[in-house]
Amino acid sequence: METYESLLAAVTAADGGRPVSDPATGEVLGRAPERGTGDLEQAVAAARTAQPDWESLGHEERSRLLNTAADAVDRSAEALAHLISREQGKPLNGPGSRFEAGGVSAWLRATAATPLEPERVLDDESGQATLGYRAAGLVGAIGPWNWPALIATWQFAPALRMGNTVVMKPSEHTPLSVLALAAIVNRVLPEGVLTVLPGGGDLGAAMVAHPAFDKLMFTGSTRTGRAITAASAANLPRLTLELGGNDPGIVLPDADPAAIAEDLFWGAFINTGQTCAALKRLYVHESLHDDVAEALAGVAARMPMGPGTDEASMLGPLTTAGQFRIVDDLVAQAAAAGGRLITGGGPDREAPGNFFPATLVTGPPADAPLVVEEQFGPALPIIAYSDLDEVITHANALDVGLGASVWSGDVERAKQVASRIEAGTIWINKHGTVHPMVPFGGVKGSGYGLEFGAEGLKSVAVPQVIAT
Ligand code: NAD
Repeated sequence: METYESLLAAVTAADGGRPVSDPATGEVLGRAPERGTGDLEQAVAAARTAQPDWESLGHEERSRLLNTAADAVDRSAEALAHLISREQGKPLNGPGSRFEAGGVSAWLRATAATPLEPERVLDDESGQATLGYRAAGLVGAIGPWNWPALIATWQFAPALRMGNTVVMKPSEHTPLSVLALAAIVNRVLPEGVLTVLPGGGDLGAAMVAHPAFDKLMFTGSTRTGRAITAASAANLPRLTLELGGNDPGIVLPDADPAAIAEDLFWGAFINTGQTCAALKRLYVHESLHDDVAEALAGVAARMPMGPGTDEASMLGPLTTAGQFRIVDDLVAQAAAAGGRLITGGGPDREAPGNFFPATLVTGPPADAPLVVEEQFGPALPIIAYSDLDEVITHANALDVGLGASVWSGDVERAKQVASRIEAGTIWINKHGTVHPMVPFGGVKGSGYGLEFGAEGLKSVAVPQVIAT
């Protein structure tokens, strides 16, 4: 049976490479091989060679192989979850690394099962036309560190299903989880179909500049997304950009604070807040503000924070020391500007690991950096409002639009409010839940293109119209 140790040994560099540290202790847990432009050339050549045969297998056979890959992931799920917890920091339990490993196989299976039939777009006396989708060819995928294995799957599974081959660069902070996932999946896939090249931003930039890629999928910060868009202009690959967010949640006056507190909490604090579509600023009607804040503090108090590999932990450390400093700084600025820390703050800066307590800040100014910048960590600003139009203006004021949520006892009323918010997804009485059949993507500075479901398959394909 696969163990954490055997999986880690299979992907660790024999010598040299980039040290990867455990965010709970600072200890080096392994070394990732570091790939360069020569390796990129080799991977591109192998992927180009493998692509026609892979495409010619057809949807049914590729789907069968994706399902077999999902079986392989299931067999190694516990080892993979353990590695994710050690490298990225999220706990084994709750919405943590076992959930992430389970999501990988669920997404592989759902991607294999998603139908994508050609559409008859014209059928009248003037003629007939059908819109179908073919493989784009070679897909390049560049990923972040927060959900390394799951987001890698969101990129490679639809690309493979559509008959593309994939060259993928994981984040330099979490290369081992993605290498391990690819090692498992590649027990099933033909050679050259999926290649993972660990390396830094320079290797990502080399991929973007390379003319061989027909499609680039990028998940990461808005800043890097803009750089990629500019740098890709010469070759004009198709782009899917899943970028940063600063999701607002709006609690309407008819919501029930006790009933929504736990879902609000996980909407904001899933993966210790390091989630693209987490709830990042909470607007609560003034009549409920204190009750919601208190109920959230109650939930925070019963969620143990500790190393991801500790079965009791529900919240883990931040993945990087840099992210710890960002959160620490935003909380300090909010407090200095008059925000009140009703729970959390005051991390132990001398203790090992990047642990920052779950923090709730009430009453920060509307333009506090904790409100208007993406904290990507466990610190939630809570702001009272009295006027619905005004709060919608605040919700829409930023240059990002990934997700949002509206919380109310009246779902129809919540939907009306939702229709006025500028975001790719607006959840009602929940936040951040994704589903393999439901398209997901941002607007404004959160990027463009959709992932998941039939729309996700289309976005890794090229359209082709046959007209008679
Ligand atoms: P990042 O932009 O710093 O890095 C992402 C990836 O880009 C890494 O693999 C990095 O090596 C690579 N990279 C860096 N410079 C590059 C360049 N010039 N050209 C090509 N590649 C380059 O992002 P991060 O810190 O890893 O991730 C956190 C961010 O990602 C947050 O803003 C978060 O909201 C966002 N995110 C978005 C989604 C989504 O689905 N919308 C999901 C997860 C994370």
